[in-house]
Amino acid sequence: MINLLDLELNKMEQLLSDMGQPKFRAKQVFGWLYKGVSSFDEMSNVPAVLREKLAETAEIGLPQILKVQQSKLDGTRKYLFGLKDGNAIESVFMKYKFGNSICVSSQVGCRMGCKFCASTLGGLLRNLTPGEIAGQILAAEKDTGERISHVVIMGTGEPFDNYDNVAAFIRIINDKNGLNIGMRNITVSTCGVVPMISRFGEDFPQVNLAISLHATNNEARSSMMPVNKAYPMEQLIAACREYGQATSRRVTFEYTLVKGVNDGPKDAAALAGLLRGMLCHVNLIPLNVVKETGFETSSKSSAIEFQKILEAKGVPATIRRELGDDIDAACGQLRLNAHNDAL
Ligand code: SAH
Repeated sequence: MINLLDLELNKMEQLLSDMGQPKFRAKQVFGWLYKGVSSFDEMSNVPAVLREKLAETAEIGLPQILKVQQSKLDGTRKYLFGLKDGNAIESVFMKYKFGNSICVSSQVGCRMGCKFCASTLGGLLRNLTPGEIAGQILAAEKDTGERISHVVIMGTGEPFDNYDNVAAFIRIINDKNGLNIGMRNITVSTCGVVPMISRFGEDFPQVNLAISLHATNNEARSSMMPVNKAYPMEQLIAACREYGQATSRRVTFEYTLVKGVNDGPKDAAALAGLLRGMLCHVNLIPLNVVKETGFETSSKSSAIEFQKILEAKGVPATIRRELGDDIDAACGQLRLNAHNDAL
C-alpha cells in the first residue's frame, strides 16, 4: 500500500497519470489530504471510480492517537502516536501568541546517544517516512480542530540522519496546494551532523536552522554528545559561519543548562567568545530532568546570570519558556514512559 501522505505533488501527479488521470486530479487529491480527510469517500469532487481504484492500492496513513496529555497551564498537548508497524512516536502541540506550533519526530528512536536525552536511550529503530512526519501535523490538527502554522523538527530523532525524508516532508507541508506552511515557519534542529549543514543551506535557505550546542569545548561536548567526536566543534562552528554567510540567516544555538556541568559564568563567557561576530541567537533551555540520565537542571538564577553574561558580550540570548511543565513534555519522555510501563 502506498501512503499518499508520502508523496510530493509531482509524485502524486505521476501516480495518477499512471492511472490514466489528468494532471488536475493530483492537485484535487493532494488538497483533500491536507484538508485532513481520513477516507477516499470524503474526496467529493473525485469520481467514485477513481476513489475505488485509489483505495485498492493506496491509503491515507494517518497515525493513531494512543495517548494525549493536556497541560492545564497553557494548552500544550502531547501526543503518543501509533504507527502501522506498532512503533510509537511523540509530538507536542503548543499554543503561542503568533499561532499554533508543533514539534514533530523525524525518527523512531535516535542513534546520536546524547547523554541527557530520553529519545536515544533505546537507540534508533527506523527512519520515519515523509508521510509519517506530516501525519503528526494532520492528526494534531484534527484532534484540536485548530490550524498549525509553525513546525519545529525537534522531536525524537536526528533530522540530518534522515535527510531525504525530512526534505520531502518540508516540501510537502510547504506546498501551497496543501498545508502551505511557510519555509520561515519551519525549524530544523540538529545535534551537529556537519556535512549536511551546507547542503541544507543550499536546499532550504529560508528554513530556520537550530544547532544543539550545549558545551563550549570539545572535551565537554564529546562527553555529552558523541556526535562531537565525529564532527568536532571547530568544524561545526565553521560550518555555521559559512551557512550564515551563504544564507544571511541567523542560526539558533540551543544550549541546555545542566547544573554544575555547563552552566557557570565561565561557560557563558566561553560561549560568547565562541560565537563572537556570528549572526546568531542563543536559546537557553533549562534541562528537563530524565531520571535515567542522572543530570540535574540549573537554578533559575544561574540561567538568568548566564543570559546576562551573553547579552553583555553582544550575543542575543533568551531563556526558553517551559510549556507543558505539568506533563511529560520533554524530549522523548512520553514514549520512554510508555515503553517502561509496558515492561
Ligand atoms: N536531534 C536533534 C533534534 C531533537 S532534540 C537535535 O539534537 O537538535 C531537540 C532539542 O532538545 C535538542 O537541543 C536536544 O539537545 C534537546 N534535549 C534533549 N534532551 C533534553 C533534555 N532532557 N532537556 C532539555 N533539552 C533536551
